[in-house]
Amino acid sequence: MNAFEALGLNEQLVQAVTDLGFETPTEIQVKAIPVLLSGTTDFIGLAQTGTGKTAAFGLPLLQLIDGTQRHPQALIVCPTRELCLQITNDLENFRKHNKNIVTEAVYGGASIMMQIRNLKRGVHIVIATPGRLIDLIERKAIDLQKVKYVVLDEADEMLNMGFRDDIDFVLKNTINRESTWLFSATMPPEVRAISKNYMENPKEVTVGKKNSGNVNIDHQFFVVPASQRYEALKRLIDFNPGMYGIIFTRTKADAQEVSERLAKSGYEIEALHGDLSQQQRDKVMGRFRSKNLQLLIATDVAARGIDVDGITHVINFELPDDMEVYTHRSGRTGRAGKTGICLSICHSRESYKIKSLERMINAQFHKVDVPSGKDVCRKQFFHFMDKLMQADVSHGDYETYMPDLMEKFADVSKEEVLQRVAALEFDHFLKYYEHADDLNKSDIRGDRRPMERTSGGDMNGSRKERTSFNRGNSGYTRLFINLGTKDGFYKASFLQFILDESDLKKEVLGKIDMRDMNSWIEIDQAAASTMIKAIDGKRYNNRTVRMNEADGGFKRPNDEGGRSDRATEGRKRIYAPKERRSFK
Ligand code: AMP
Repeated sequence: MNAFEALGLNEQLVQAVTDLGFETPTEIQVKAIPVLLSGTTDFIGLAQTGTGKTAAFGLPLLQLIDGTQRHPQALIVCPTRELCLQITNDLENFRKHNKNIVTEAVYGGASIMMQIRNLKRGVHIVIATPGRLIDLIERKAIDLQKVKYVVLDEADEMLNMGFRDDIDFVLKNTINRESTWLFSATMPPEVRAISKNYMENPKEVTVGKKNSGNVNIDHQFFVVPASQRYEALKRLIDFNPGMYGIIFTRTKADAQEVSERLAKSGYEIEALHGDLSQQQRDKVMGRFRSKNLQLLIATDVAARGIDVDGITHVINFELPDDMEVYTHRSGRTGRAGKTGICLSICHSRESYKIKSLERMINAQFHKVDVPSGKDVCRKQFFHFMDKLMQADVSHGDYETYMPDLMEKFADVSKEEVLQRVAALEFDHFLKYYEHADDLNKSDIRGDRRPMERTSGGDMNGSRKERTSFNRGNSGYTRLFINLGTKDGFYKASFLQFILDESDLKKEVLGKIDMRDMNSWIEIDQAAASTMIKAIDGKRYNNRTVRMNEADGGFKRPNDEGGRSDRATEGRKRIYAPKERRSFK
């Protein structure tokens, strides 16, 4: 018996997965499919992307749907447009032999009228992002009364993105559902709260260890002086010529700056950030997916939901503040049984972060030296020579030219030809790396003694390390701001907001402590008044933002006003910066 059939799937679905080349079910599929096929059991699947979770819920859904009843019977809610389209595409493949089942993807950034028209025609499964779904519910364009199955995919990401109220709303508006299936990579208390409030005796399964990283990923880290981050990144790219990768930065400004510098040096790279229109974003993603773009650089915010197969490397240009973000980042590689490499560029003061990451994802990190200029040249050289040897000469009309060529090169040795080819291809490389520094040395230009602090600088020159880890540093002032996670911010977008508004660099910041309604920011004393001046009194979502020096430590004063504004606020929760500022 086919292994998928043994899980209880019908012939058409087994045929569809066979057509896709799936031979054996993945762990989450084995654990989820038989349970979900019952149709009445609530389910929690702790599984990351890349584990085959879409098929784990998609196949049972397709089997449970009654094709003769043309109204929404299943609702899949996921955090982003990309993921929404990805799930829809997977379902399309799975329903290849069940064409009577109709699906519709509804997401922001596309014509709502078209989506309404399609919904009116009658669909069985709706795949939705929260914002657009609520919009459709409010317009009474979607009837959820007969929805039997609700799937929350990447629940932790949705909560991270501030969709908590939307999820509550959706679950409250699907009162006739027979089961709720929740998938999440991690299980923070907020996700636990959803299961408590809306699920009954859920069957919980975990794939791998909770919060654990994928075993197919090799985690490597490189310790370099802060001033050499960019150079180290360049070396890592050059040392891995076949790399198809995503680089993560903490801020949009870094993403922009690094991509511009690399593009100027001839790398195929584009930045993905909040300033791009949906059309531009689709264009970049299209190029990346079709491998016309070797590298994508993105902030965590912009990279939400990106789901691309075959990523060989994830590079952390900087380690994220939030350790869980590391799992999301590294999970972009090493998917579907393939191996992947996650490279992190860090500073010596971040070593303890590596230790806590190791504990958190229960995997060992390998400290690796940044390759020397010579190593890079050698690697590139042989990569090129391998390509030369693999070149397909079977189709060209090369024979025509051979006699003339043989004559022309009659007195030239093989060594000389190779040398000349190498010179043509590698001259710039050899020159660039001729006097390259050893980036692993701690005493080279621009390095700092551990606690030494300077102001300003950038990736080219000296740069003060971000010091969220230097708690208790006396050079900091604490600021209070009446914005928090309820305003749709999470750390990365909040950081981006305050930096964009104040035109300050992230190096001035220390620890950021975000709560629901307020946040506290550690900031270099010298920069505090600039930030207050830029932000205090600004309007955000029809409210006046208040920022001032906090008088206590990281204690939580009484919540500031504005709760009622926020309770009735629209759904545009994710901060979209007004303009792109240049990296200074
Ligand atoms: P997902 O975790 O749903 O994003 O799936 C990750 C990738 O694994 C997708 O490209 C799927 O097509 C693929 N996949 C899912 N299940 C299987 C399977 N049983 N065998 C092989 N590939 C699979």
